[in-house]
Amino acid sequence: MNIRSPYCAICNTQISAGNNSKEHVITEAIGGRLRVSGFICKSCNNEAGRTWDAKLASQLLPLAHIFGVTRQRGVTPGLPISTTTGENLIMRPDGGFSPNKPSFSEEITPDGVQIKIVARDVNEAKSMLKGVQRKYPNTNTDQLLANAEFSSSYPTGMVHHQLDFGGEVSGRSIVKSVLALAHQAGIAANLCNDAIQYLRDHTAPACFGYYQATNLVANRPLETPLHCVAVNANPVTGLVLGYAEYFGIHRVVVCLGKGYCGEVVKSSYAIDPRTGKELYLSVNLDFNESEIDAIYRYEMIPNGAIEAAFHAVMPAALKKKDDFERERVIAEATEYAFKNCGAKYGEILTESQVKKLSSLLLEKLTPYIMHMHKSNKLR
Ligand SMILES: [Zn+2]
Repeated sequence: MNIRSPYCAICNTQISAGNNSKEHVITEAIGGRLRVSGFICKSCNNEAGRTWDAKLASQLLPLAHIFGVTRQRGVTPGLPISTTTGENLIMRPDGGFSPNKPSFSEEITPDGVQIKIVARDVNEAKSMLKGVQRKYPNTNTDQLLANAEFSSSYPTGMVHHQLDFGGEVSGRSIVKSVLALAHQAGIAANLCNDAIQYLRDHTAPACFGYYQATNLVANRPLETPLHCVAVNANPVTGLVLGYAEYFGIHRVVVCLGKGYCGEVVKSSYAIDPRTGKELYLSVNLDFNESEIDAIYRYEMIPNGAIEAAFHAVMPAALKKKDDFERERVIAEATEYAFKNCGAKYGEILTESQVKKLSSLLLEKLTPYIMHMHKSNKLR
């Protein structure tokens, strides 16, 4: 049996009760839940989170939006997008779009000063209104806020997502994830030298490669954008291997260490990031050293394989997103129309209130219908 190292896997400081940290095996920003302790110290945890994990999370942010990740803490940040017609917008986690900058304009009219504020959320509107009140002390900001309109707009151009993945910085987050699971499975850090070196020394050679040649998840659930981390320590090949997969699409094989002669250790941890629910998957990680070298040389990514992985999870996600957006828009329009038609809950509506209600409903639904028409989704 291996002895757990009481030293931080990154900086080699002895881990004590004072500097121990709970590290997420899969980074929290993309929905990870499981945490391990006694693995890295508090300051390395913070530093790795701020740099390596943040880079991985930003590369995966478009997918986190498309699939609707639920996180244990916090929400998925807005995704800045630009469109083919040059708009710069923020895609919100609820599927709507906001301007990427607040705007403020004032115009002097015969009736007084007319101020127009576009804010991205209520808090931003409140702080902008405070500024208005400083300049014009007679402004009734509560009333202005009560009359503020919440609206969503759709981009007029096509949205292009940047789906870049990879590189040394996010690579270190991936290697750390796999090493965290190895730690949890009881594989000592000194048996994972390739990974340890890579995390400690920025000039050390990368110990991972992208892999799309075969499906390593034996019982892969259909249309599931899963996250998975696995390790396999095998005395026959002498290799301690790791695997990480994100959203069912990006797949990485890691060689944590060579010269392993302990007993066989296999472990995996997987989740559905849309719900956080754990999945029990069986991962076949049986590469020998020359296969690992081929993976490191990018030779295990056949043409069309990444596209096929995308296609296996994307259509269902896009359909779900469309359904969600339709429900959101209808709910928002209904609430807006009823609130502004002059009727009260429980009362019988007058003919003019019904007329007002229908026209308000149409007003709110039209941008959505036009957007669906333009995106060729009205059938
Ligand atoms: Zn440390």
